[in-house]
Amino acid sequence: MVIYDLICDIDHAFEGWFKNAEDFQSQSESGLLTCPVCGSEQVSKKLTAAKLTKKSNSGTLPAPQRSTAQQVVSADTQSPEKFAQLQKMLGRVHGFVEQNFEDVGNKFAEKAISMHKGEEEQANIRGIASKDQVKKMAEEGVEAVALPPKPIDPDKVN
Ligand SMILES: [Zn+2]
Repeated sequence: MVIYDLICDIDHAFEGWFKNAEDFQSQSESGLLTCPVCGSEQVSKKLTAAKLTKKSNSGTLPAPQRSTAQQVVSADTQSPEKFAQLQKMLGRVHGFVEQNFEDVGNKFAEKAISMHKGEEEQANIRGIASKDQVKKMAEEGVEAVALPPKPIDPDKVN
């Protein structure tokens, strides 16, 4: 492992960790070497001697600066994306239910149970049920799925 003191074209100084001198050379030539502060690819070695790490007995070495910076960035961009994806999916589920299920409001449990008993024709229904009603439905063996709350979509709010 070698550590170089590196500097970008607008004078951000940082350390780069490399397997060896060739690794630095190839990363630098293929443009993989970027400044962790501004992302510039114009990175050069500061004119100091390369240091060899001698911390083999310390157990944990700090991660290379370059990949640390990347990890932070990707973690930051990933979770909102996933959250947006989840919201989108949830929105589709709600859209499907709204289009294909008849809204029976708070008569949901009543209707679901009588459909289950064969007193009423089977249909796709949606509605609201209290805790007691949910319990009653479970006792009657009615299968109902509770949907997570509808996502708030600022674009679609009128
Ligand atoms: Zn820079």
